[in-house]
Amino acid sequence: MARVETVQGAVEEQELGVVLAHEHVRFRDEAVAAEWPSRYDEQLELEAALLAVRAAKDRGVQTIIDPTAMYGGRDVRFMKRVADETGVRIVACTGIYSYDHLPHYFENRDVDVMADHFVEDIEKGIQGTDIKAAFLKCAADAPGVTEHVEKIHRAVARASVQTGASIMAHSMPAVATGPRQVEIFKEEGVDLARVQIAHCGDTDDIGYIEGLIEQGVYVGLDRYGLEMYQTIDKRNETAAELLRHGHAERLIISQDFCATIDWFPPEAAEVFEGSGAIRNWSMTLVFDEVVPALREQGVMDDDTFATIFRENPRRWLTA
Ligand SMILES: [Zn+2]
Repeated sequence: MARVETVQGAVEEQELGVVLAHEHVRFRDEAVAAEWPSRYDEQLELEAALLAVRAAKDRGVQTIIDPTAMYGGRDVRFMKRVADETGVRIVACTGIYSYDHLPHYFENRDVDVMADHFVEDIEKGIQGTDIKAAFLKCAADAPGVTEHVEKIHRAVARASVQTGASIMAHSMPAVATGPRQVEIFKEEGVDLARVQIAHCGDTDDIGYIEGLIEQGVYVGLDRYGLEMYQTIDKRNETAAELLRHGHAERLIISQDFCATIDWFPPEAAEVFEGSGAIRNWSMTLVFDEVVPALREQGVMDDDTFATIFRENPRRWLTA
């Protein structure tokens, strides 16, 4: 039996239980937060994280996979505090979340040096702690797979090959980044059964999603509540169709919820709710609305639920 690193130490894979595979207990720019700490209220951030995670725990969630990497303000001490105070396990990652920008530090060092940084997080510990990363994170968005994005993907891939750690890649179906991301992992010799292409549910193009599944990767239907990319109803139609096509074992369902996020001024949340850009975005939406809707459509029974919320995240992390 494999063991999985969490912010509270390694656990047996079976102990993960019911998993939310893509949520953020806090998301903020680490540079702004370091330079102007007075603009952030750590106590409020903590309270928001505890509230969100406790609500998920009430729905039966035992583990949260939090893919906050560099540029998302990854802070494993904060994550551990949330895990300690809620009793919900949190699984941390290493990697760089960038749509293009790279600091000169990494621009002027090669791919293997970048990979070494990730390996250090996986084998020794993160940010001076003995908390280890359980997986790797990279991203491609509107600018596509740029030179810098490709460099990060190759570094992530090499760290995966070296350590056996799995990979989660943020993608943007609107510009079809997924196939190119998978291609890079393949070129680097990554085991595609360890790869998760996140945010595939932002499209309702079943052919596009099935093209990725055919490569052997997991696909994330993981942004429930972010209506600006796709409505809950459309996301459910896509999920139902993929389930009817027999793909339960490749689907990751989650919300990409951020208990707090600094991308917008605080008043924006209400504007987004008011305009319908987000709807009921939370760490419980999939249990409150999505699972019941899929059950009603006859595409999710108890076994399917266990496959998606227990087996898939565990298998992706450990296979
Ligand atoms: Zn995310």
